Amino acid sequence: MSDVDKMWELQTVLTALNEREKLMSVKPESFAAVDREYQGASAEKANLQEQLDTLGRERRSVDGELSDQQELLKKYQGTLMQVKNQQQYAAAWKEIDATRKHVKELEESVLKNMTEADALQQQLDSRNDGHTELQGRYDAAHAEWQSSLGDLRKEAATLRKKADQIEATLPERLRNEFNKIYRQRQQVAVARVERESCTSCRTKVRAQVVQQLKRGELVHCEGCHRILFLEKVQS
Ligand SMILES: [Zn+2]
Repeated sequence: MSDVDKMWELQTVLTALNEREKLMSVKPESFAAVDREYQGASAEKANLQEQLDTLGRERRSVDGELSDQQELLKKYQGTLMQVKNQQQYAAAWKEIDATRKHVKELEESVLKNMTEADALQQQLDSRNDGHTELQGRYDAAHAEWQSSLGDLRKEAATLRKKADQIEATLPERLRNEFNKIYRQRQQVAVARVERESCTSCRTKVRAQVVQQLKRGELVHCEGCHRILFLEKVQS
């Protein structure tokens, strides 16, 4: 068997392997439906958690401001004890009034934040409660899909092994060349010649090249640079 024959066989095996892998990657509707539900529920949970985190940050900031304002209020109340006349007394009261108002607003804001956070936490808790059931359905559907792939899996493993065996018989230089073209040319490194044309790119193969191929030489297509393969005529 010539090196070109081996490369053609390797190409055939890899093409068959790619078909299997493509089939295995397609989600059946029975799994796709629960997968969508699962992804949707996970996204909603992440969204609720993000809103809760935002509220938590707001809460810490308001708490800090509230404690500053309460300190300020104490200070003004202390001032009130030391006023010397009616004018100072009125001024101190004005400050106290304004600060109390501010404190009240901040306290209301804390209350509002807590109410919102409670509601979000309840939503998140109920989602988490349902998660075990959804996770169970997701796992079952996934396992069913994977077990339905049993035959394809076995075929793919056999093809993979065969490809490795053929590759091992190729000289390193040719192996590298094959793999380079394979990567660059949509996983087709070797193209068959049919009616004196490359079946991959339809470029005409010159008569001289056909003679080279018949002698088992390694020739690249002038159109797509893939390695050309000419099937021997059965006699
Ligand atoms: Zn070509």
